[in-house]
Amino acid sequence: MKITYSIVAPIYNEIETLPLLYSRVKEVMDSSGEPWELILVDDGSTDGSTEKIRELAQADKTVRPVIFARNFGHQIAITAGWDYARGDAIVIIDADLQDPPETILELAKKWKEGYEVVYAVRAEREGESWFKLWTASLFYRLIYRITDVKIPVDTGDFRLMDRKVVDVLKKMNERHRFPRGMSAWVGFKQIGVTY
Ligand code: UDP
Ligand code: MG
Repeated sequence: MKITYSIVAPIYNEIETLPLLYSRVKEVMDSSGEPWELILVDDGSTDGSTEKIRELAQADKTVRPVIFARNFGHQIAITAGWDYARGDAIVIIDADLQDPPETILELAKKWKEGYEVVYAVRAEREGESWFKLWTASLFYRLIYRITDVKIPVDTGDFRLMDRKVVDVLKKMNERHRFPRGMSAWVGFKQIGVTY
């Protein structure tokens, strides 16, 4: 079957949010009326997330499990997700629900307008300390100043990319990977959506 959306979530010890991640993604994606798949990449979890992922995949064939033998880090988990994704559009979303799945439909709308990378821009970050907010803000602005690659500020990995962008990213065999920087670097028609 042809798949329109591949939703990729890297997972490291997310047993608390996994069921909710699945049900919210399912509700949102079913409402799109288009075929989708949820790729859950288990990055060596030790809290039972692995078993939960297998269980979800048993019960619902739209869930595709990718299980790592140990923890490799979230950039590698995202990369594996790109390799397995079969959709025309690939969405990267954090599993801890910091990124609201409902926003995926807004990203998809921009994709249908012809944008090839649609990144989500946080208007505010809830539940994080002033120190994390301040250091994160410094980090994004420093990166912005020291590199020639214009990585949009206040964005994470939460984004939708057209299949042809992901095909280019898959050819980049960097050892030290920074997915949100790589997707800014490759070019293509890009736009942000604030949530
Ligand atoms: N994650 C992962 N491997 C790791 C650490 C994190 O796959 O070694 C996943 C984690 O489960 C989450 C996403 O990557 O879905 C982002 O991780 P986290 O929330 O810790 O990062 P932050 O939001 O602080 O940037
Ligand atoms: Mg997080």
